Amino acid sequence: MAKYVIIGGSAGGIGAVEAIREIDPIGTLTVISDEPVPQYSRPMISEYVSKEATVDTMKYRDDQFWRNNNVQTLTGRTANKIDFTKKQVTLDGGDKIDYEKLLIATGGKPFVPRMEGGEKDGVFTFTELSSAKDIEDKLEHSKSAVVIGGGLIGVSAAEALVKRGIKVTLVELKDNILNLTLDKTASDIAEKVLTEAGVTVITGQTVQRILGRKDNEAAVGGVVMTDGKKIPCDLVVVAIGVIPRTELAKETDLKLNRGIVVDRFMRTNIAEVYACGDVAEAHDFLLNENRLLPLWPLAHMGGRVAGYNMAGKQVEYEGGTVMSSLKYFDLPIIAVGNVNPEELDDYEVLVELKPEKTVYKKILLKDGAIVGFIFLGDIEKAGILFRLLKNHVDVSEIKDKFLSEDFGIVALPEQLRQEMFVVN
Ligand SMILES: Cc1cc2nc3c(=O)[nH]c(=O)nc-3n(C[C@H](O)[C@H](O)[C@H](O)COP(=O)(O)OP(=O)(O)OC[C@H]3O[C@@H](n4cnc5c(N)ncnc54)[C@H](O)[C@@H]3O)c2cc1C
Repeated sequence: MAKYVIIGGSAGGIGAVEAIREIDPIGTLTVISDEPVPQYSRPMISEYVSKEATVDTMKYRDDQFWRNNNVQTLTGRTANKIDFTKKQVTLDGGDKIDYEKLLIATGGKPFVPRMEGGEKDGVFTFTELSSAKDIEDKLEHSKSAVVIGGGLIGVSAAEALVKRGIKVTLVELKDNILNLTLDKTASDIAEKVLTEAGVTVITGQTVQRILGRKDNEAAVGGVVMTDGKKIPCDLVVVAIGVIPRTELAKETDLKLNRGIVVDRFMRTNIAEVYACGDVAEAHDFLLNENRLLPLWPLAHMGGRVAGYNMAGKQVEYEGGTVMSSLKYFDLPIIAVGNVNPEELDDYEVLVELKPEKTVYKKILLKDGAIVGFIFLGDIEKAGILFRLLKNHVDVSEIKDKFLSEDFGIVALPEQLRQEMFVVN
């Protein structure tokens, strides 16, 4: 029997391995992953496609990581079933692995809606290294692409492809790209930057069906939009969203909402079973409730907390919140918390817009505390605001300084500076 079994060897699984080994250097530890080399940085898929990164430079941990941590790796293997009563995981092919403590770190999978022509050769998703490699192979013979979905993944796919000299059309159903991350002003600026870089952005519409080529009906030749317009293309990237990979929880007693529900110790409702990362619904410190927060640093942090607790050291997860740190065509953007409330009545909003410098800052306050902000173009002081937001600091006395040129840690009251920013 393995003392610890982890399903998924990416950000969450790696965090857990590191924490377990800090506490327990010898307990048998097995990691199951259906990806052959799971220890790569998923956010760098875009840079792989744009040729700014290679498989080697996108490794989050080196190839010796598993051996150095004395991990039995079952890579290229899928966990198909968990029997929580027998404490046993069944793999593809029928092999069974017994566990004492189990971590489910299965992450997310792309949401691909049913679409006429969706099965054609040349339709890709953008969440795994294997898809990125498939796209890479296709690019040699491609001139144009349609990316469906103007969210974080769709925009990074569009950027990567246009950097490879591909003519890219980005299609977003809502009126603004990045609408779950930014407000309209920031989204408009981002769209302008994309357009100037050569991406054609179409909003308020989607792809109705995918067409075949004249000489080969089985391969992508174009798309038909909802208004009936045809756009010729050689490949289609579907980047509509990512959903938690919760298949293993089906028909079990594991408590599931949109993701697997965990407490502040990353424990599920079943004894000795933990979950973390994109598959889990964990604590949001701003909302003070559980939610899906599919972010790399939170998956790693959640994995660490799970690992410590699995190995017997009680550690509480401090939680995360919505936070995006983006860089499209050298335009840096940081968006944290609630940046786009439907009703502004209860909020105070501080805004600075300098279009000539491509700078936009918006800070939202509620009951004296920062609840969200967007910094675009100039992100230098975003770290200070993040700390103030995270600690729910009443900033009523200092908020007027936030947008001044010389705002910095020294502008904060001495006591606050000592409490939050001085490392002893
Ligand atoms: C293109 C892209 C860009 C991104 N950019 C950013 C960014 O800029 N910043 C940021 O914070 N986050 C970003 N993210 C999100 C980030 O990558 C995820 O939050 C993070 O990878 C989650 O880690 P995880 O360990 O929970 O799951 P994952 O990284 O999804 O890993 C889960 C692993 O488990 C394996 N697995 C699943 N089910 C099974 C099974 N049954 N058996 C065996 N193996 C299984 C999967 O194949 C996978 O290897 C991006 C994601 C993508 C796709």
